[in-house]
Amino acid sequence: MVSEVQSAAIYGIDGLPIRVEADVSEGMPMFQMVGYLSSEVREARERVSTALRNSGFALPVKRITVNLYPADIRKSGTGFDLPVALAILSATGVIPPDAFWDTFVIGEVNLQGNVCPIPGVLPIVAKAAELQIKRILVPAQNRVEAELLGGIEVIPVESINGAVDYLTGDYEIPPREAQGEAKEASAPDFAEIKGQKLLKRACEIACAGMHNLLMIGPPGAGKSMAAKRLPSILPEMDRKEQMETSKIQSVAGLLTGATALSKRRPFRSPNHTATLQGMAGGGTIPRPGEISLAHNGVLFLDELTEFSPQVLEVLRQPMEDHEITIARANGSYRYPAKFMLVAAMNPCQCGYYPDRNKCRCTRRQLDRFLGKISEPVIDRMDLAVGIKAVAFEELSGESKGESSAAIRRRVEEAQSIQRARYRGEAFRFNSALPAGLIKQYVPLDAAARDYLEEVFFRRNLTARGYHKILKVARTIADLSGKDRIDETCLAEAVCYRGVEKRDWEPEERNRD
Ligand SMILES: [Zn+2]
Repeated sequence: MVSEVQSAAIYGIDGLPIRVEADVSEGMPMFQMVGYLSSEVREARERVSTALRNSGFALPVKRITVNLYPADIRKSGTGFDLPVALAILSATGVIPPDAFWDTFVIGEVNLQGNVCPIPGVLPIVAKAAELQIKRILVPAQNRVEAELLGGIEVIPVESINGAVDYLTGDYEIPPREAQGEAKEASAPDFAEIKGQKLLKRACEIACAGMHNLLMIGPPGAGKSMAAKRLPSILPEMDRKEQMETSKIQSVAGLLTGATALSKRRPFRSPNHTATLQGMAGGGTIPRPGEISLAHNGVLFLDELTEFSPQVLEVLRQPMEDHEITIARANGSYRYPAKFMLVAAMNPCQCGYYPDRNKCRCTRRQLDRFLGKISEPVIDRMDLAVGIKAVAFEELSGESKGESSAAIRRRVEEAQSIQRARYRGEAFRFNSALPAGLIKQYVPLDAAARDYLEEVFFRRNLTARGYHKILKVARTIADLSGKDRIDETCLAEAVCYRGVEKRDWEPEERNRD
C-alpha cells in the first residue's frame, strides 16, 4: 500500500513543497529511501526506524520504500524525519490516508521518538499558507514561530505518538501560552553618545541617502557605539521587508523565541576572523551568511584592515546585485543581501595618528597600514569621516545628545523627498544615483559650481570621488529641504571625502 504525506524543503529562503511517499510490500525485508537525497536526509532511515520502534511501532518485516519527489530537487536538512515516519505508519494502516488531506508535516525526530525543532519553519509555513493548505504539523518548539503569520492552523507535536494521536482524532491541541504584547528589547539610542557631533552628523547623512560609511579614528572614539545605533535612526521596515528579514533569520535558525515579526532593521557585526562561508553563506546544510542576515539593515565591519581580502572580495557582487548567488555542484541558490555597509578602522597601526604625542608610526608604517585597506570596499564608501577621541569636557558634560527618534524624523523626511523625486526611476536613494543622471538630479547654483571646480583641482579628485561628493551633497540638501545644492551643502560633503587623499583630518572639523 502506498501512502503520501506533504512536506516542504527550504530552497534559498523559500519553502518548496516536497511529497513523501511510502510503499510497504511483500518481499525481501528492507528499508530504502530514494529521491536525490543529501546525506542527512538518507540518515533519516536510521533515525526513523529506531524512533518508530521506541514509540511502540515495530517496522513490518516487509520491503519498505520511501520516495521524496519532485526528484530533480536535492533535499537537505532533517525536517523530513517526521513526514517519513508518518508516511510509513500510514502505509502500514496505523493512520488513515485521508488524515493527511490539506496538511503539511515537518519536523526532525530523535531516537526516542520525540519531535525536535528545525530551522526554516517560517518560510515553509508561508508557502503552505500561499498554497491554501489548511494545517501544518510542526515541532512543538517551533510553534511560536509557525504562528507568527496566521492564516493557517498550526498543530504543535512533541512526539511521533503525539502526531499519531492527532491524526487518528485522539488529541487536543494544547492552548497556546499567553505571549503578552510582543515587546522588543529597547534599542541603543544616539542620546547616549556625548559629543562627537561630526560623527553623528555623518551617520544621519549616511542613513538619509543610504550611503555606505567609513569611520576612521582612534580606539574608544565611539565608532562602534555609533554603528550599533544606526538601525535606530533608519525608518522601520515595512511588512514586505519584515517578511524577507524574518525568513532569512528563520532559515539561519535565529527566529526561535520571536513572538512577532520585528520592524527593527538588522545590525550584523561579523568578527574580522569571519570565514568566507560565514560571510557569504552556504554549507552542507545551506545557511545564509552575514551579508544576508544584514539584509534590509546594516553590515558593520569593525577593524576593517584586519579582514582578509578574500572575505571582503565576496561583498563586491552582492553590493551591485543586492543578492548573493551560491553555486554548488547540484545547482545554485540565491539569498537576498541588500545592506548598508559601515566600516570602522584605526588611522594607523597604533591607532592614534595624527596625535603625534601618542603616535610614533613612521611615514612608511602609515603608508603600509593604509595599503591594507581593501579597494573594493573603499570604492563603495560614499562618506568617510575622520574622528578624534572625545574631549574630556564633552565626555563629562551633563547634557544628553539628541535622541534617535528626533534624528530618525529628519532621515524619514529626507527619504520621502527622494522617493518623490525618483518616482518612476529604477532606484530610490541618492546613493544609487547613476553617474549619467547626476547633472539632472543634482542642480548646482553658480557659486557652488565655482567652488566645486576649485575643490576638484585643489584636491586632485577622481571622477568617482567627484560623483560621490555630489551624491552626498544631494542628501545634505534633502536633509535641509533645499532643492538646489548651494556652497554650504557642497563644502560639508567635501569634508567627508578625507579618504580620497588619505588625510584623516577633515578640513572643517569645527563646523558646528
Ligand atoms: Zn600610529
